[in-house]
Amino acid sequence: MAKVFASDTAMRVSTDAVQVCGGSGYMREYPLEKRMRDAKITQIYEGTNQIQRNIIALHLIRSTAQ
Ligand SMILES: Cc1cc2nc3c(=O)[nH]c(=O)nc-3n(C[C@H](O)[C@H](O)[C@H](O)COP(=O)(O)OP(=O)(O)OC[C@H]3O[C@@H](n4cnc5c(N)ncnc54)[C@H](O)[C@@H]3O)c2cc1C
Repeated sequence: MAKVFASDTAMRVSTDAVQVCGGSGYMREYPLEKRMRDAKITQIYEGTNQIQRNIIALHLIRSTAQ
C-alpha cells in the first residue's frame, strides 16, 4: 500500500511540475523530464501498481471473509 501510494504521488507531483513548466518541463535540458521518468518507473518495477492493487484487494477480501 505504501509503495502504491508513494509511487502514484511521485508520478502525480512530477507530472504537475512538468505541466507547470510547460514545454521547458518536457525538454531534456532541464531535470524535470528525468524526475517524471524516474517517478514513472516506480509504478512499474517491484510489482506494477495494478498488480499491487490486485494483491491488496485479494488480501482485503480474504481477511474480511474469515
Ligand atoms: C529500469 C528497470 C529495472 C528493473 N529492475 C528489475 C530488477 O532489479 N529485478 C527484477 O526482477 N526485475 C526488474 N525489472 C523488471 C520489472 O520488475 C518488470 O518490468 C515489472 O515487473 C513489470 O513487468 P513487465 O515489464 O513484464 O510488464 P507486464 O507484466 O507485461 O505489464 C504490462 C502492463 O500490464 C499491466 N498488467 C499486467 N497484468 C495485469 C493484470 N493481471 N491486471 C492488471 N494489469 C495488468 C501491468 O500493470 C503493466 O501496466 C526492471 C524493469 C525496469 C524497466
